[in-house]
Amino acid sequence: MKEKNRSRLRFNFGFLIEGDLGESREIELDYPRIRVSDDVVLKPLQGKFQVSRTSKGLYLQGVLTSHIETECTRCLNAVDLPISIELDDLFYYPPAEAPEGEFTIGEDGILDLAPLVRELSLLEIPMQVFCREECLGLCPECGQNLNDGPCDCQIDDIDPRLAALRALLDDDQLSR
Ligand SMILES: [Zn+2]
Ligand SMILES: [Zn+2]
Repeated sequence: MKEKNRSRLRFNFGFLIEGDLGESREIELDYPRIRVSDDVVLKPLQGKFQVSRTSKGLYLQGVLTSHIETECTRCLNAVDLPISIELDDLFYYPPAEAPEGEFTIGEDGILDLAPLVRELSLLEIPMQVFCREECLGLCPECGQNLNDGPCDCQIDDIDPRLAALRALLDDDQLSR
């Protein structure tokens, strides 16, 4: 069984496909943790969305909330970033009539939400993410995480405020 790579965000909406236009259902998600794709893990994934039968397929609308695992831009440590995923998308049925690049529902009535949730989740990650505002990042010389403590590298162009502090400390040591 190749269950491992199978999306756990698959829904059988065959009953809605067979239903009347305008018929809808509310779906509630509550996953403590879910791997959406090789590169996206969400924990938790919660929220509700409405699925409505339209002439073109199924229209999904709702808001999911989650945290996505990403990394700090400065120190590369893992960061759990809170995100909200707004669903406002049409999944085409029958799949053969879908325009190029649009989401579709399988002939079997199965809708896989994972590709859309993955795409929307990744869009929620800003260009820069910091584990905390004052993250010190990695030493450009040795790569040590400076949040864990200073390294032994001598770096000349240090922060001027730190330079002033260091000068004070040196004076203090001299005067003893
Ligand atoms: Zn950091
Ligand atoms: Zn260093």
